[in-house]
Amino acid sequence: YDELKNNRINYNADILVLTLPPRLLLETINFKPSLPENIQIDLLSKPTWMGAQAKIVVTFDKAFWRDENLSGNVVSWAGPLREIYDASTERDESALFGFFSLPPSIRNQYDKESIHNKVIDQLVRLFGPKAKYYNNIFYKDWSQDKHTVTEGDKLNIESFPSYGQPPKYAENMIFSGTEYDEQHGGHLEGALSSSEKAYYKIKKLMSYK
Ligand SMILES: Cc1cc2nc3c(=O)[nH]c(=O)nc-3n(C[C@H](O)[C@H](O)[C@H](O)COP(=O)(O)OP(=O)(O)OC[C@H]3O[C@@H](n4cnc5c(N)ncnc54)[C@H](O)[C@@H]3O)c2cc1C
Repeated sequence: YDELKNNRINYNADILVLTLPPRLLLETINFKPSLPENIQIDLLSKPTWMGAQAKIVVTFDKAFWRDENLSGNVVSWAGPLREIYDASTERDESALFGFFSLPPSIRNQYDKESIHNKVIDQLVRLFGPKAKYYNNIFYKDWSQDKHTVTEGDKLNIESFPSYGQPPKYAENMIFSGTEYDEQHGGHLEGALSSSEKAYYKIKKLMSYK
């Protein structure tokens, strides 16, 4: 993407499919002429679901918690992780996965190592000292991902947003992505359903040619 940004290429197209999350689209793409105000407002009103969240996966040689008949599934109000799940695979790759209770504003105050240490401390409290002997930690904070969220998405969403298509504009400008799907917006299913609808719109537009 950064490479593309520096090497400007002009394309002429009959149909434009926009697949960026709505707020990011509005913030990072220069439209000339500008998008009508009602569309801009609509795009702004569609936050990226889960955009304020972070996930962590800690891998181990063995799912040692199972030896003690522990499921590995936890809901906690004490520690950086609010929800923890056993994320081991059927191929014997053992892992615990967690969602954070710390909001982005607090997470940002710590470097990666401190976050890792806090998580391991919590796992040791919950599952015992064997949790110290992990193999790898994979930490992804979506609130830091400039290709997914905007500043406004760093606020936790209290209720599920209302998603769907923006008001009608140019027929050949297609909005496709999870937030543009009425039924399953915010979820993977919404992204799939929305791209399927985009496909049929393109097919219809092409048949007029
Ligand atoms: C923490 C978290 C947990 C989630 N958990 C679940 C779950 O359990 N179940 C579920 O169903 N869904 C879940 N989701 C939601 C799911 O991931 C999304 O609904 C889905 O990925 C949206 O797909 P999309 O194609 O619409 O958008 P995206 O996957 O966001 O794709 C947009 C793409 O555009 C790219 N891009 C951005 N800017 C530019 C640019 N200027 N130029 C070119 N490319 C650009 C981005 O890099 C990205 O690849 C979760 C999301 C998050 C963040």
